[in-house]
Amino acid sequence: MNQKDLFETALGIQEPWHVDQIRLDDNNKILEIYVDFERGARFTCPECGAGDCTAYDTKETTWRHLNFFEYETHLHARHPRVKCEHATGEDGDKADSAPGGCGIHRVEVPWARPESGFTFLFEAMVMSMAPHMPVNAIADQVGEHDTRLWRILQHHVNQARENADYSTVESIGIDETSSRKRHSYISVFMDLDERRVVFADSDRDSAVVERFAKDLEDHGGDREAIKRVCMDMSPAYRKGVDEHLDNAKITYDKFHLMKNLNEAVDEVRRSEQKQRDGLKRTRYLWLRNQEDLDEEDAQRVNSLADAYPKTGRAYRLKEAFRELWRQPADRAEWYLEAWCSWALRSRLEPVKTFAKSVKTHWDGVVSWFQSQVDNGILEGINSLIQAAKAKARGYSNDEYLITMTYLIGGKLEFELPT
Ligand SMILES: [Zn+2]
Repeated sequence: MNQKDLFETALGIQEPWHVDQIRLDDNNKILEIYVDFERGARFTCPECGAGDCTAYDTKETTWRHLNFFEYETHLHARHPRVKCEHATGEDGDKADSAPGGCGIHRVEVPWARPESGFTFLFEAMVMSMAPHMPVNAIADQVGEHDTRLWRILQHHVNQARENADYSTVESIGIDETSSRKRHSYISVFMDLDERRVVFADSDRDSAVVERFAKDLEDHGGDREAIKRVCMDMSPAYRKGVDEHLDNAKITYDKFHLMKNLNEAVDEVRRSEQKQRDGLKRTRYLWLRNQEDLDEEDAQRVNSLADAYPKTGRAYRLKEAFRELWRQPADRAEWYLEAWCSWALRSRLEPVKTFAKSVKTHWDGVVSWFQSQVDNGILEGINSLIQAAKAKARGYSNDEYLITMTYLIGGKLEFELPT
């Protein structure tokens, strides 16, 4: 096997193509591979599939390929267009050599997709690295502009999403996440059974639920088949679900409920700190679960709770609310009623506000005892989103975060050599 044969095998180059020349630039560590075809070679028309077209004209084209060892590798070829004489349409046989015919088209090369400046293998490498490291770091490593790499990711994610099948989706988790500090948010819809992201959108108003429902139906799903939705108490999502997912029963996510209550506890602590010093830098003590504290911290939180009665009361209410999830289903509503009346008598405004919102969202809070959809799954979403954010770090573009969210969380099937 000579050197050219070796590269033909490595690159998967087949008739009518062959490796014509290989140039190694040792100073700049660049490997140039020139691929060519013989005069009179036949190509397949990309439009009608006729296999006997000859080159009409060509364009010198370069594709970036995977490095061979430390050599940055480029593939060069004259990329032909064919003038296809075959007629398209049902009476194609009769009109076989009709003037004009099918037209002039750029052929597809076996090593790259149309309009990509990269070979399939290079794209496959970028796709396999992207879930594991930030895109700007990949760009540095391969010496390409990051926007070109994002274009690769977006292409393959969009293509794989087109083929995705959502016909079995019945349970949905909705969550929002900030894509940049306080500036913008994306909404993420997750299939709770398959644990995959099925929809992400740069909006979080009620219309986003309608867009999700349409997208679901574009992928073989059915909005009427959605039986369970797990989400936070955001009125926008609730309105969207009420209007567009007729058969869905809402469960408010435990994780978000606890987060809201923790915020109330912290508000009480901060206002008590203003009146009396001594609660600074104790936030973590109050927000941790009591059983997760070590002995020293547990003693400290107990003595602080006695010394600072408002924060102590808020803390004990929070710990008691956590007990709700351990109640048997037939006692849950009784327990929550008792908790709410305690909270409403607590004279702690932030906690009272929380208890009132529990009362207005009652069905969705207690429906957990039937649906059992819980924060474990939504925390799974959050860790995916955090991972996606890390890979899209440094970009202010929601589309990039959405692409990365699908890439990491979508369980999509990509059409690329592996
Ligand atoms: Zn054709």
